[in-house]
Amino acid sequence: MSTTSTVTGTRPPFGDLAGVLRGALIEPSDPDYDGARAVYNAMIDRHPAAIARCANAADIVSCVRFARDRGVELAVRGGGHNAGGLGVWDDALVIDLSGMRSTTVSPSTKTVRADGTLVTADARSHEDLFWALRGGGGNFGVVTSFTFACHDIGEHGSIVGGPILYDLAEVMRWYRELLPTLPEELNGWISLLTIPPAPPFPQSLWGRKACGIVWCYIGAHNKADAVLAPVREFGTPLLDGLRAMPFTDLQAAFDGLYPAGLQWYWRADFMRDISDAAIDVHLEFGRQLPTGHSTMHMYPIDGAAARASEDDTAFAYREGGWAGVIVGVDPDPAKRRSDHELGQAILGGTAFHHRGWCVHQLPDVGGTGSGSVVLSRQL
Ligand SMILES: Cc1cc2nc3c(=O)[nH]c(=O)nc-3n(C[C@H](O)[C@H](O)[C@H](O)COP(=O)(O)OP(=O)(O)OC[C@H]3O[C@@H](n4cnc5c(N)ncnc54)[C@H](O)[C@@H]3O)c2cc1C
Repeated sequence: MSTTSTVTGTRPPFGDLAGVLRGALIEPSDPDYDGARAVYNAMIDRHPAAIARCANAADIVSCVRFARDRGVELAVRGGGHNAGGLGVWDDALVIDLSGMRSTTVSPSTKTVRADGTLVTADARSHEDLFWALRGGGGNFGVVTSFTFACHDIGEHGSIVGGPILYDLAEVMRWYRELLPTLPEELNGWISLLTIPPAPPFPQSLWGRKACGIVWCYIGAHNKADAVLAPVREFGTPLLDGLRAMPFTDLQAAFDGLYPAGLQWYWRADFMRDISDAAIDVHLEFGRQLPTGHSTMHMYPIDGAAARASEDDTAFAYREGGWAGVIVGVDPDPAKRRSDHELGQAILGGTAFHHRGWCVHQLPDVGGTGSGSVVLSRQL
């Protein structure tokens, strides 16, 4: 959401806003300003005019009205994980929602619109807004609360999943053929990676370039062996991490490897097919991954995601295919350049399979946003 920029050159009276907010207003002179403006991707280095740590919907309404009245740009920040850093902007008032956390269940959203009014959007009221908010990117208002429909996962939340790592050369063709034949309860996304030099990985594999598939089986556990048989029968894994675990453990499995504060350069694309030529390009660059954190992921778009039609939500590309993400990641800001080149080179090599981007994946937004790629069969 944006209004016109300040044209007077004088700083708007943010003290007036601070006076009406229940949450804190952080300005550049405050000691915690640098921490408050940082997002997950350390390549993003923006300097907002102020950051409002909103405590409730009334705070958001106050911020929107202040920005409208004073001609200040607005940025809206949730978790700050968007790769392009779209939640913070230079000279803007950032509405920081990271402190507003609670959970309710039923599909709708409460949204403050650009005119400062608070509405509830769902399938029957403010339908256009509800449609746009699910995949349409920013600029439709500030969501003060989402309510979701929940789905059962696994047996009491327990799934059979985890990564299996293979030698780089042997996997992608097999994976391409196998995935469409699997039942919906079994999902696997594929990655080119460098095996991290730390436990639980055996020291003999540290630093080796590999291909990993992260599996997630959400069906009955007594059928897991049969469903996973074609996976277990293939090749000679370097490492087999498949086991029963809470779904939340799988979600958090890679958090330790990718803490906030690394430099991320993202490229992303949708592909209908994984062609032989695309596999060759991926294998060539998979052997050259420049840092331990740099990686390629490819996620199938099928199952429930593919059953919704293309215009049911603002996220299209639902009729099957793959979402691919290439990231050059480095803790060292001095190495940004080479990571850029990796992403561009791989994408250049596979661009002939390009179908399009979703709005969160538009290229070269200072790094690439990767937003509403709805990946999983199990949703
Ligand atoms: C390591 C990593 C892995 C990821 N893997 C996946 C994945 O598997 N699947 C996937 O779909 N995505 C994935 N993403 C992308 C991530 O989920 C999206 O970028 C998501 O938008 C981040 O949410 P956020 O609240 O942190 O966003 P922010 O960075 O805070 O904001 C992102 C955008 O949404 C807007 N926004 C945020 N909150 C609101 C609100 N309340 N009202 C209105 N606008 C708002 C912001 O203005 C901004 O434009 C991954 C990101 C990272 C860093």
